[in-house]
Amino acid sequence: MGTKIDKILGVARQHCEDVIKPNVDQWNKDAKWPRTASTIAGAEGLLGLYAPEEWGGQGLPLGEGIRVYEELGKGDGAYAFTLSMHNICAFAACGFGTEAFKNAWAKDLTSGHKLANFALTEPQSGSDATNMYTRAQINDDGTWTINGAKAWVSLAGEADVYFTVVKTTDAPGHKDMAMIAIPADAKGVSFGEAYDTASYEFLPLAEMYFDNVVVSEDNIILPVGEGLQGALMAIDIARVSIASGCCGLMEAALDTALAYAQSRKMFDGKNLDLDGIQWMLGDVSTNLEASRLLYRAAANALGTPEGPVMAAHAKRFVPDAALAAANTCTQVLGGSGLLKQYGMDRLSRLAQMLRIVDGTTEISRVVIGRSLQKRAKGLPVMAVPKGYGEK
Ligand SMILES: Cc1cc2nc3c(=O)[nH]c(=O)nc-3n(C[C@H](O)[C@H](O)[C@H](O)COP(=O)(O)OP(=O)(O)OC[C@H]3O[C@@H](n4cnc5c(N)ncnc54)[C@H](O)[C@@H]3O)c2cc1C
Repeated sequence: MGTKIDKILGVARQHCEDVIKPNVDQWNKDAKWPRTASTIAGAEGLLGLYAPEEWGGQGLPLGEGIRVYEELGKGDGAYAFTLSMHNICAFAACGFGTEAFKNAWAKDLTSGHKLANFALTEPQSGSDATNMYTRAQINDDGTWTINGAKAWVSLAGEADVYFTVVKTTDAPGHKDMAMIAIPADAKGVSFGEAYDTASYEFLPLAEMYFDNVVVSEDNIILPVGEGLQGALMAIDIARVSIASGCCGLMEAALDTALAYAQSRKMFDGKNLDLDGIQWMLGDVSTNLEASRLLYRAAANALGTPEGPVMAAHAKRFVPDAALAAANTCTQVLGGSGLLKQYGMDRLSRLAQMLRIVDGTTEISRVVIGRSLQKRAKGLPVMAVPKGYGEK
């Protein structure tokens, strides 16, 4: 008998074969979120991975559950990313939500009857996340009134609830930030026109507006002062999840290139008989193995002091490796690599998207750089040549 995680990975693998791969091109043509697919994922237990069993979840540790996106990413990186964000919301709801909120939402989220996502980014604040304006006023009766705008909201208009990071005063900085769950049908919530994106057209992305939206204090997920900290914890999980999905993407690219290269006849043999082709694909394979080790180590580090920097290492390295893999594998197919039927262009564009979302490659470098500065402080003062230590 396999372990619980083995069973869930098998379910995810099958979901990829049966639900994602045969349909993803049509989803993109329809430019509509495949709600039936995510409902199936919910029924299969893929939407409450880390939520406790008492709330309908699988109760998996992060280090195990995150591997699901590697399986889903073989079919589509944007779909894997979206389900990963929902899973983090379901986890946050069960871990930090009020009893009233859990009673109202938790089982619907873990079963996939309802979908959730985060809203942090604003038009003027992406990487610079603290430069945020969306404002919640705390009323005398305990309700919160929210005004402002978010940008790049995934599942815009499709999710049923948005875990939204807000400021509660005009003071600069993050000490007044909180996270509150705003139902999509709350009065005063609206969405902008859908962004026109390439290669993940089925993922609705748009701005989200709050016009005097009144929400019960039952919906507070993270109280004042903990909003940014909590969002960053969620983002660390998201970063490792993205790295996991990228490994699936790399495997899909590699398998397409291998299957093609062993079928393409040239120079009295096969394309795959050429040393140069084997070396190109060998490098992809090495990077895939390294990426797997890295994201799994990062997943196991989540929740420890090393978690943020390990997540940054994974988010810095793996999407870059995935983009390089997609491009190399396209090259292996020659002109055929540019034909839509092989899907290589889609993989390159998905990998590029995954380099940006939930903290860009450069922001990962910033996190790593800061941790190196901290480490340097613990090292002994080193003698440097005369004059080198002076300003
Ligand atoms: C497909 C997709 C889905 C998304 N879904 C969501 C969602 O559901 N919810 C949500 O809240 N957000 C979402 N986002 C937003 C995403 O997290 C932001 O796009 C991302 O954080 C980058 O912000 P930005 O686009 O404003 O880029 P900017 O912050 O404007 O960055 C522009 C460039 O400057 C670089 N840069 C920034 N700071 C530094 C620095 N200190 N040093 C060096 N270079 C730097 C960046 O790396 C980038 O190359 C999504 C984005 C995408 C593409």
